[in-house]
Amino acid sequence: MSWHLIQNAERRLAAETALLRPASGGDVRVALGYPNTYFVGMSNLGMQAVYALLNGIPGVTCERFFLPDPEELREYRDCGRPLFTLESQRPVGDFDLVAFSVSYENDYPHLALMLDLAGLPLFSKERTADHPLVLVGGAITLLNPEPLADFVDFFALGEAEGLVEPLIERLRRDPQRDRRARLEDLAQFSGFYVPSLYEPRYQEGRFAGLVPTPGAPPRIEPCHLTPAAFQETLASSQILTPETEFGRSGLLEVSRGCPYLCRFCTVGFSYPRVRWQPVDRLWQVVENLLESTDRVGLISASVGNHPQIEDLCQRLLDRGGAVSFSSLRADRLPDSLLEALVRGGAQTLTLAPEVGSDHLRRAINKRFTDDEYLHAAHRVFRKGVRNLRMYSMVGLPGEEDEHVEALVDLVRRTRRVQCEEGRSGGRITLSMGQFVPKPATPFQWEPLAPRKLVSARMKRVERALGGEGGVQVHAESPKWALLQGLLARGDRRYARAIASVFRDPSFRAWMQALEGEGVDVALEAFTPRDPAWPLPWGHLASPWSAELLLKDRARAARSASSPCPTTSHPLS
Ligand code: SF4
Repeated sequence: MSWHLIQNAERRLAAETALLRPASGGDVRVALGYPNTYFVGMSNLGMQAVYALLNGIPGVTCERFFLPDPEELREYRDCGRPLFTLESQRPVGDFDLVAFSVSYENDYPHLALMLDLAGLPLFSKERTADHPLVLVGGAITLLNPEPLADFVDFFALGEAEGLVEPLIERLRRDPQRDRRARLEDLAQFSGFYVPSLYEPRYQEGRFAGLVPTPGAPPRIEPCHLTPAAFQETLASSQILTPETEFGRSGLLEVSRGCPYLCRFCTVGFSYPRVRWQPVDRLWQVVENLLESTDRVGLISASVGNHPQIEDLCQRLLDRGGAVSFSSLRADRLPDSLLEALVRGGAQTLTLAPEVGSDHLRRAINKRFTDDEYLHAAHRVFRKGVRNLRMYSMVGLPGEEDEHVEALVDLVRRTRRVQCEEGRSGGRITLSMGQFVPKPATPFQWEPLAPRKLVSARMKRVERALGGEGGVQVHAESPKWALLQGLLARGDRRYARAIASVFRDPSFRAWMQALEGEGVDVALEAFTPRDPAWPLPWGHLASPWSAELLLKDRARAARSASSPCPTTSHPLS
């Protein structure tokens, strides 16, 4: 019954505190989708930022839509009503532009499902003048958007703040023009990528390059904001709702990029530089948020590195506001930041050692030692935090059995620190995931470690820590890490596999679908990639050239095989 779907939408709207509501009756109507549930989508600051940017342009109306929850999904299927937006409950297909903000590979099947529920043809080539244009933007566009290429009419690559206005301006130009002409026009502007203007080639069962059609740029530049342009805009929550991971916290972005350049991580390598928001600018937004909530979440890859973070925390403490942070590094934990956290009621903190050995940590360029980690743990528990979450990875390049033993040892030592500081009633939670090589990083050519090896190493850790009081271990399934790894470095053949599994994406169905599309899983996932062979994302410009990434990869290999510390900066 579709009335239940409408009731759900109304209930969610009623629970929201909106700092911004879309104007009605604009000449450009955008349906902005997040390919996951309302809970996950509303926890994503990027989605909220794009919503604000679009609705901030006079004449533009932007409304949200999300992946239905399982119960809603059954209702959509039973009643046959097309997927609709939250604000006006109009069908997504009635808008001029359907834009998705995509951050994670695991959401790709959701995007296909949402297009299907909206009654839109899945593949861009099947859409006609009666259909809206379909756009994908978001973090994924700075890595490898190719598995989605056949679904989208165009991508907006890079930072939305620099793309939204030119996009709307181009959409307004002669809206009667045919679809193809509008897309060809968009392709001429930096930051917009029209995949249908490029023909993929395959050789020996592998991706072998893209051939641009006449007039299409051979290399596409994503939009990167200068520090000054970054400071002109500030991403912050526009809508507060209890139905998010952070409750009713108002979120704001403190910085973008990361100075550390850990070799497995995309955050540092996706941007040419780190940009910070000045504290006075942040404070203006905090004051605005504090009118609607007493809790503020600071979003940054490395909030402890913000040059004025102590000042900001102190101002928050003085105002009696509670604060939380998206991620913290063990070697950058100023006292005022810890105090702000504890005063905000934080019982649990996450500090990711990634691995349990200084040697392997150096090889992945996570530049702090076990001793520094334990010192941070002492300070955290002493300040009053009860529980610690430790994120770690298994299957990294250069990893040996001894590194797994070292991880067990580090967890035990951290637990001892917890007890010494009088928090024996608290918990240490170790979350283990598998290393997945990501595009645009120095490890982009590395293979995934074999599933059996990863499972055996994870089990070893689980067994070793099984009897430790106060310690819990969670291990991610290597099956799903394999799928993430395939999608992260996939090419256009993956879109057809997504199209055949999106209604029932079991692991078995995935493997059959990929095989059916001629993807050799062993070759794609478990074999090192030849740096001389084209990569599916090779036509998208990246801040770090392949030469620099290769140089850094060689440095990692030297570091892993050498007992001596490598102290120089990775990209120097
Ligand atoms: S510190 Fe964290 S966000 Fe920064 S590069 Fe390393 S893992 Fe990525």
